[in-house]
Amino acid sequence: MADRHDDLIAAAEQVIRPHRVGDRLFGDVGATLVTVASNQYAGVCIDTGSGTGFCAEHSAIAAMVTAGEYQITKIVAVWRNQTGDLHVLPPCGRCREFIRQIDPANLDTEIVLGRHRSAPLRELLPEHQWPEALDHPHRIDDAAPSVEPRAADGLD
Ligand SMILES: [Zn+2]
Repeated sequence: MADRHDDLIAAAEQVIRPHRVGDRLFGDVGATLVTVASNQYAGVCIDTGSGTGFCAEHSAIAAMVTAGEYQITKIVAVWRNQTGDLHVLPPCGRCREFIRQIDPANLDTEIVLGRHRSAPLRELLPEHQWPEALDHPHRIDDAAPSVEPRAADGLD
């Protein structure tokens, strides 16, 4: 019987196609995701300089959004080293936040971390909620009558 994440890992491995430009390497990490509509999208990393590059997850998500989808059920990224060993790469912090911002439901996206290992995005992205204010120095006194914008414009 196949291991739990083997199919998705194999799909991500298929798009790995390393390409060297100067001292930069493109396409050496591949990512595949599955959407709630059961469609698959893949992408590779492009490691250009001066912060212009992006991760394989970014590419796969861009392909998904191009097709009009936003909710990710499951995603994986893989990299093969020079000796041929395949690795599952956990998403970097930027990709974790990127996945969350694409659709709030993606907090439940299953992030594949190995052949038998995965975790929901929310566990890999703690403290993602917008914080409560520490205090309310400009809050109107609760006892005062509320001033609705409509009442203030003199139309009632
Ligand atoms: Zn990343």
